[in-house]
Amino acid sequence: MARHVVPTRWKSGMIEIGPRIFAYVQASGIDPRGDTGVANSGLIVGAEAAVAVDALMVPSMTRRLVAAIKKTTRKPVARLINTHHHLDHTGGNRFFRAATIVASAKCREALAPGFPPVSMLRRFMPRFAAEFPKLKVVLPTVTFESRMVLHDGDREIQLWHPGFAAHTVGDSVAYLPKERILFAGDIAFHYVTPLAFQGHVGNWIKAADRLMRYDADVIVPGHGPVGTKQDLKRMRDYLALVQREAKVRFDAGMPASAAAGDIKLGVYASWSDAERILPNVMRCYQEFRDELDQPMDLPRMLQGMERLRGARLDHACV
Ligand SMILES: [Zn+2]
Repeated sequence: MARHVVPTRWKSGMIEIGPRIFAYVQASGIDPRGDTGVANSGLIVGAEAAVAVDALMVPSMTRRLVAAIKKTTRKPVARLINTHHHLDHTGGNRFFRAATIVASAKCREALAPGFPPVSMLRRFMPRFAAEFPKLKVVLPTVTFESRMVLHDGDREIQLWHPGFAAHTVGDSVAYLPKERILFAGDIAFHYVTPLAFQGHVGNWIKAADRLMRYDADVIVPGHGPVGTKQDLKRMRDYLALVQREAKVRFDAGMPASAAAGDIKLGVYASWSDAERILPNVMRCYQEFRDELDQPMDLPRMLQGMERLRGARLDHACV
């Protein structure tokens, strides 16, 4: 397994990554309770107006994002892209009242039934428990099937949905060809363990391979620091490792929970939220059984992750 240095902290805030193009990275990688819900956003400032990429999760986060946008530009955010339906990317949609919200049709479809129940969210992300009752769903108003291009003067923002479920059913990326910048949403996780509980690990690897073919010098992931294809490749290799090792144990008749504890993660054990190995293995098992249409047993998943996290923290304290 290829080794690499795993950063424990990284640059956060509004980071200029191109001409009037910004990644907004939330402080991350420092909380032992995990980083679930701590996502990134983006800002592309045009001639008359700006485009934002993802709206973050709870009001305190999105208020900070909106304040950072106002410090960066006086132009209004006329369009907001949702890279997928998950709460940590769409929870703040209502703070972009004046914006047209653009997403893949599948993303809108997945968001339409609303957010998961507050009790579930509190268990999944206890750090933000107090703010969950304040959430309101605001749906995208413009959708596309496979591709869409947003034009602003001579700037192009190319939106692309892989046509299959990778991290979720409705993932999309925003690519600026002239500037060679890719906002990858949650198809890219850098040094934060990817979470496939609603995804398809095999297809996610394919989607990551497709992203590797973009002519991009800078990749803004949904989670983790701004990086390059090298960082994305490491996540891709994690998924391939999990899939390969899960298959060996699946074929040997080992239950998913035992397999999750048995797989040697190597360098990936020090990526943030390593206990996501459990949902990732559970999802692989569903994939091997051809049962991906069935939702995952979330209470069982959360219980198992709490156990794995506890074991890891105990170990760290020794
Ligand atoms: Zn996310």
